[in-house]
Amino acid sequence: MEDNGLCPLCSLAPESALHLFVFCRVAKTLWRESFWPIITNNLSFTSIAAFIKWIVCSKRAFLRSLVEHRNYVLHAAIVLDSIWDAQNSVIHQDWVVNMHELIGSV
Ligand SMILES: [Zn+2]
Repeated sequence: MEDNGLCPLCSLAPESALHLFVFCRVAKTLWRESFWPIITNNLSFTSIAAFIKWIVCSKRAFLRSLVEHRNYVLHAAIVLDSIWDAQNSVIHQDWVVNMHELIGSV
């Protein structure tokens, strides 16, 4: 794969961690389809660190216990890892993004 400075997953935006993990159409779909859906269109962050802090420090009403909160954070980590793995598969193995396959892997 040629490095053109664009996101390897969508080729629609400049490559950045914030785009890749939060705002890329591939990431948006994974977050939306995850066990605890997150609609990233409704969010505004200036860095990936701010997004991760928002996940880890969340005190959402649907998280009724410490265990549920830990599971939520763990699930978010798995989604982030899946996005990273997808990017690496595109770059290093010429994988073509398959959303059905990717959603099934989370
Ligand atoms: Zn993208």
